[in-house]
Amino acid sequence: MTLSGKTAIITGSNSGIGLGIAWEMARAGADVVLNSFTDNPEDHALASEIAEKTGVSARYIKADMSKGDECRDLIKQAGGCDILINNAGIQHVAAIDEFPTEKWDAIIAINLSSAFHTTAAALPHMRKRGWGRVINIASAHGLTASPFKSAYIAAKHGVVGLSKTVALETAREPITCNAICPGYVLTPLVESQIPDTMQEYDMSREDVIKNVMLTRQPSKEFATVEQLGGTAVFLCSDAAAQITGTTISVDGGWTAL
Ligand code: NAD
Repeated sequence: MTLSGKTAIITGSNSGIGLGIAWEMARAGADVVLNSFTDNPEDHALASEIAEKTGVSARYIKADMSKGDECRDLIKQAGGCDILINNAGIQHVAAIDEFPTEKWDAIIAINLSSAFHTTAAALPHMRKRGWGRVINIASAHGLTASPFKSAYIAAKHGVVGLSKTVALETAREPITCNAICPGYVLTPLVESQIPDTMQEYDMSREDVIKNVMLTRQPSKEFATVEQLGGTAVFLCSDAAAQITGTTISVDGGWTAL
């Protein structure tokens, strides 16, 4: 399919899932805007590499998704937005009575409130162009819970609720809003935890992956960033025009348990 002529903005896309989605959007023909809160030469180099290898136009724009005004400014600076992928996210693990307030506030701001601000700023552009896709990267933890991740789970459940509301508010327009709910995805962040866990439990790489990391993922396989990118591209297709206000799990069966 071709998304030629469309501009996709992907928040939190200088690594992991966001970067993977940016590549798949570019391979499908969309111009892409990468984002994170840093402004390093490597960030801009990622955009140059995508542009060079796929032939689309690609830019990197610094904006801190913990700040509402910067979220809105990202959309303004991009100059247009047909596809908005709200992906930026952080995690902190602690029991609720020991959960640092500043971590709670940061997770709610980056993982949930940023999607409110970017969506509010992007919808007028989509309405002007007569087409739009809002895709929120939630999580299996947007549908189920685990202990010690109160802020993350509250934020991801919130993202699912926000997606439904945006879908209802845009239901009569050629705009859709959905949440993708990944299970465990093999990102560089997850990959980097494998050697330490192998040492801690004196286990092989395969045992760490199957018996520690993927205990709740029945497929015993990670989802990949390419699969998430492909799901996002599908949500931009004509076939998905009536898919709105829902969640798509890419979790190897996690939420079927
Ligand atoms: P990651 O750490 O590789 O990516 C997170 C991205 O968000 C990075 O690009 C980071 O720079 C960016 N970011 C962090 N704080 C930011 C801020 N203040 N402003 C702008 N950007 C900021 O992790 P990932 O695994 O690729 O996660 C991406 C999304 O997918 C997150 O929302 C995460 O909750 C979700 N997710 C991940 C998994 C998984 O197993 N990896 C599973 C389910 C959901």
